[in-house]
Amino acid sequence: MPARQFICPNGNKVAIQDCLKSCSMQQRCMFLPTLRAVAKSLDRGIKEPTVTELLAGTRETYLKKIMEYAVNPQDILYALHGQAVHTINENHTEGEILSEIRLNDDITSGKFDLYGKIIDEEEGVLGDLKVTSSYKLMKALGIYKVDVATGEIYKTGLKKGQMKTKKEFRYDGIRHVMDWAIQLNAYRLLLEAEGFTVNRMVIQALCRDSGLRITAERGIAKNIYLIPIRKISDHWLKRYFTAKAHNLQKALADRIMPHVCKVKERWHDRKCQDYCQVAEHCPHGQTVKSRLALPLKDAV
Ligand code: SF4
Ligand code: SF4
Repeated sequence: MPARQFICPNGNKVAIQDCLKSCSMQQRCMFLPTLRAVAKSLDRGIKEPTVTELLAGTRETYLKKIMEYAVNPQDILYALHGQAVHTINENHTEGEILSEIRLNDDITSGKFDLYGKIIDEEEGVLGDLKVTSSYKLMKALGIYKVDVATGEIYKTGLKKGQMKTKKEFRYDGIRHVMDWAIQLNAYRLLLEAEGFTVNRMVIQALCRDSGLRITAERGIAKNIYLIPIRKISDHWLKRYFTAKAHNLQKALADRIMPHVCKVKERWHDRKCQDYCQVAEHCPHGQTVKSRLALPLKDAV
């Protein structure tokens, strides 16, 4: 079931259809065409579980399929930015590059962004476009900071006698791209099942908060990065998606809420606290929200 309500800036909920007819506030929170585009992006009319749905926690996807829920249109705008980037690329594939085609197998469906000669002369490159935060980019690129001795010694204060240090970036850390890698590899499997050869997979990530001081402090100096993605074993991928699709379908058939989303899927509760659109229907989401809403002395 797609989202049915918008959350207004004052926290009120309004049926999306009512909002599109007329705004109950003094003034609309954004242009009407933008709201229409947001509303359209929420209901894609796809019945089978998509790769993106199976990548999320099963409980989250289950709740999104059975509950009416509300979204803040401002939050959905990030996804629309992503779609706008897709459209820019889609209009310039010049007939030799495939783009935005939805493929199915008996488990899932997925729409890859670009396939073909998209970087150099090599054929069969599968590309995915992301619009993401500098934090996620820093993690995906394996950037971290280390303390490096400057050779100078503190002469006074608490640190007297200790070596002074400065922060330096390193670019050889663990690249946290597992969710992106599973998604792109799932598209690879779908393409290969149709007879296409995928020689390379690459993500083009656009930083959505470039130009800010915090972005520079995270070591992100460019607007766009190309991030190579490694192949994941076909056997592992098929087991992963089969198990997730089975768990979701069983939960939907039995109408039994699946186990709480895994720690990684719920971003160590950050998603439950601020980003999960169905948190109000999830007991764990409610617990996290009420725990963090308590004054510090009550929360510990
Ligand atoms: S336009 Fe914005 S403020 Fe007005 S009803 Fe819709 S969501 Fe609420
Ligand atoms: S609130 Fe957290 S645990 Fe519950 S569905 Fe959302 S992400 Fe999963």
